[in-house]
Amino acid sequence: MQVDVAIIGAGAAGMFCAVEAARRGKRVLLIEGAAAPGEKIRISGGGRCNFTNLGIAADRFVSENPRFALSALKRYTQWDFIARIEGAGIAWHEKTLGQLFCDGSAKQIVAMLVADLEESGATLWLKTEISDVQQAKTGFRIATSRGVVQAEKLVMACGGKSIPKMGATSFGYKVAEQFGLGIVETRPGLVPLTFAEQELEPLKPLAGVSVTGSVATGKTRFDEALLFTHRGLSGPAVLQISSYWREGQPISVDLSGQTDAGAHLREMRGQAGRIAIRTALAQILPERLARYIEDISATTGNLADQSNATLDRIAGLVHGLEMRPVGTEGYRTAEVTLGGVTTDALDARTMEAKTVPGLYFIGEVVDVTGWLGGYNFQWAWSSGWAAGQAV
Ligand SMILES: Cc1cc2nc3c(=O)[nH]c(=O)nc-3n(C[C@H](O)[C@H](O)[C@H](O)COP(=O)(O)OP(=O)(O)OC[C@H]3O[C@@H](n4cnc5c(N)ncnc54)[C@H](O)[C@@H]3O)c2cc1C
Repeated sequence: MQVDVAIIGAGAAGMFCAVEAARRGKRVLLIEGAAAPGEKIRISGGGRCNFTNLGIAADRFVSENPRFALSALKRYTQWDFIARIEGAGIAWHEKTLGQLFCDGSAKQIVAMLVADLEESGATLWLKTEISDVQQAKTGFRIATSRGVVQAEKLVMACGGKSIPKMGATSFGYKVAEQFGLGIVETRPGLVPLTFAEQELEPLKPLAGVSVTGSVATGKTRFDEALLFTHRGLSGPAVLQISSYWREGQPISVDLSGQTDAGAHLREMRGQAGRIAIRTALAQILPERLARYIEDISATTGNLADQSNATLDRIAGLVHGLEMRPVGTEGYRTAEVTLGGVTTDALDARTMEAKTVPGLYFIGEVVDVTGWLGGYNFQWAWSSGWAAGQAV
């Protein structure tokens, strides 16, 4: 089979790129290993797909060069994508922090992209394995389980390593290495943090407790909900910080984002000094957490027995609990893969490899990783669109 453009990976970025290129009149073949296209879109955002964010900006992306993403993000914006889904009759709403979700189902976005693919004339091969990619005299030669494909241009859109159960492979990184492009070390991102057995033991009774607070590592901090699990910590604030946290670093957890625990404890001491510390804490924290803080504060007696310094120390535990994760839940549950094909190797406008004309990398396989909140899909749409104009 001979085509103008072969795209490997029918996820968000690959499908978007295929439609754009085919609409420009290119003969496009989209090759997918799984049985269905857009599987991660389908399961995303709790089944409602957080498809973009109103607050797209460079500081919402983790990369060795966060500004790299801006060119594509400015040329195909969140407003362009919103117009696209509105054109397809898909209703949406803002949930929180600029995060936009479908009112109905994520399947609507997959269906829109599949319909666009069909209308554009692009060909989609599902359940297709690729055994080899080589540069040919002109373009590329791709050996697949359906035969050899000869393509003028090759777009790698095979995503990251997250959720191998859903078809994630390291193929994109392998091809980049084969063609001599650098890879920024990959690691799981937007992933729950885990603790060693010793640290986990006293936290076990807290499994299921959630609070609105914040989590920080170094100078980076996220104010959102966090959740104690039977393995460690999860929830939006923790997933966000996981993209910045490194092995061996502590995290600082604020368990009460809304209320100043020190002021509350002093006020309660004045009003009802005979109550237990945990009773006063339970007015601003879930009861199990209040008990935990009292336990680790190693204080005895009622509120009235405590000095200002002791109340400040307890408040310090509420607002700056230092915890030492031992790791993450890994690619099994990570929403994204940090690192990837170095942006130095790519043209920010077209996503083409600077040293290999005709070879493109888009979406998650590139060293561009968004925060939780729709940023990763916007990067997939924008980078897919940019390559779709150039191939
Ligand atoms: C549970 C979950 C929920 C998420 N929710 C959100 C959300 O709400 N909002 C958001 O912005 N982001 C979300 N993300 C992240 C988002 O899904 C990804 O960033 C995005 O899908 C990346 O798009 P992509 O096209 O680069 O890769 P993918 O969507 O992963 O697509 C890559 C495709 O390539 C195929 N492939 C891989 N290797 C090969 C190969 N060797 N041969 C052929 N095909 C291959 C894969 O099967 C896959 O279909 C979520 C991720 C997960 C795991």
